[in-house]
Amino acid sequence: MTNVNPMKPSQRMKIPRQESIEQEAQVRNRNFQEVSHGFDEERASTEAQRCLECKDPVCQSGCPVNIDIRSFVQLIFQKDFSGAVNKIREANYLPAICGRVCPQETQCEEVCTLGKKHAPVAIGKLERFVADYEMLHDSFTPFHIKDQREEKVAIVGGGPAGLTCAAELAKVGYKVTVFEALHAVGGVLRYGIPEFRLPKAILDLETERIKALGVEIYTNFLVGRTATIADLFDEWGFSAIFLGTGAGTPTFMGMAGENLSGVYSANEFLTRTNLMGAYKFPENDTPVKIGKQIAVIGGGNTAMDAVRTAKRLGAEKAYLVYRRSRTEMPARVEEIHHAEQEGIEFLLLTNPTKILGDKGNWVCGLECQQMELGEPDESGRRKPIAVQGSEFVLDVQIVIEAIGQKPNPIIQSTTPGLKTGKRGVVEVDDKQTTSRAGIFAGGDLSRGGATVILAMRDGKIAAEQIHQYLLAKHNGELVQ
Ligand SMILES: Cc1cc2nc3c(=O)[nH]c(=O)nc-3n(C[C@H](O)[C@H](O)[C@H](O)COP(=O)(O)OP(=O)(O)OC[C@H]3O[C@@H](n4cnc5c(N)ncnc54)[C@H](O)[C@@H]3O)c2cc1C
Repeated sequence: MTNVNPMKPSQRMKIPRQESIEQEAQVRNRNFQEVSHGFDEERASTEAQRCLECKDPVCQSGCPVNIDIRSFVQLIFQKDFSGAVNKIREANYLPAICGRVCPQETQCEEVCTLGKKHAPVAIGKLERFVADYEMLHDSFTPFHIKDQREEKVAIVGGGPAGLTCAAELAKVGYKVTVFEALHAVGGVLRYGIPEFRLPKAILDLETERIKALGVEIYTNFLVGRTATIADLFDEWGFSAIFLGTGAGTPTFMGMAGENLSGVYSANEFLTRTNLMGAYKFPENDTPVKIGKQIAVIGGGNTAMDAVRTAKRLGAEKAYLVYRRSRTEMPARVEEIHHAEQEGIEFLLLTNPTKILGDKGNWVCGLECQQMELGEPDESGRRKPIAVQGSEFVLDVQIVIEAIGQKPNPIIQSTTPGLKTGKRGVVEVDDKQTTSRAGIFAGGDLSRGGATVILAMRDGKIAAEQIHQYLLAKHNGELVQ
């Protein structure tokens, strides 16, 4: 490995980490345009100079899909931006998306050597920069597929797990068809993550690039109803199937008042806004009700997206109610920071106990109790314990619950022999193989709710395993 930057490490360490260009907080909290504009060319080039070009690039092992980070940052340093994005795409087919939504602070940037004493290299923002540069300059290089294989593979679910599996298999020459229940692919990237974090135009463009690999996409196709898994094998003639149907069924706390009007799951609230464009009602058909005061319950990315969306839709006071402290919040650090800047009021160490309703059965308040932290629980986080006599009522008209999701059981219940585990997840081994021969699974469906990049990692591993399975089958070897 040769170095390309002539600067001494001590000089590189003196360069401060570059900041993105962002919309001003009090302006952006009333619009749905993207919060961050990322790096310009100058900032990206300066940031690339900070990389220490480690002999052992630990950042790469911190990336779940093993992007050759050192090389792509070196290419940025050399101002070969197209080369840099192509280097990323060798391992990751959705760079503009991952550069925007990955929790880099707990992955590649967490282990960056520079980060031991200084701020780590802004790897995520550099990834986003080269992907955006490619879009802006229309410099995408289509992938050349050498072989064509006879076998057809079905991908069920068009989220990041399914799209990644589809891209990897198409690159090896398989005929790949994605079946998606909704009218467009993307999964949570489309119906969950709001426009102000991930513009739909970017998702559309990255999807087009997967289609350009020859991947066929059927939308409005609910596997388990429109056709079963057995139909896909027997009538459609697929040789293997990857299940990437996510975890789109919301869970509720089970407290009194959840049946009142004005209570949403974050899933419904975000789907109405993102997928059905409720933020442009009445121009679009679907409305979403917003009170003067709203409370979102939870501390993850979903909660953060819901509360920031509510603020943009006009809530005067948007509260985030979370039973632990800020340290335990599972949301991306950047989203927490952005939410605070935008005026979201964090009620930490606060647990909701009951939703109160008026005579018309509309929400009129949220009863809460203060908490303190005890010893760590099975999740490793300190357990919240109720403080006696600390109950109070929050004046709100809308309550949105964002406390977790689980897989929809439709495929599991119509596919005999497919083993499921806790909370309905499909059981897989470390190669994403399920209990049924020829069926592979990954992403939130087998993890029960994780991240985009882990879903993509599963899709990649499954693609390799499907390839091995089909090669063995083709050669008449015994499989599974
Ligand atoms: C609001 C929100 C914000 C998030 N923010 C982040 C973030 O910032 N960073 C991050 O890394 N992660 C984030 N996550 C988590 C991340 O989005 C998920 O882990 C990831 O999308 C999982 O990918 P997947 O492909 O497994 O499933 P999904 O993205 O859920 O996609 C599954 C797809 O399968 C389709 N489907 C379901 N059932 C069927 C069926 N029977 N037939 C056909 N199609 C079907 C669905 O319509 C969907 O399109 C967020 C999650 C939410 C909900």
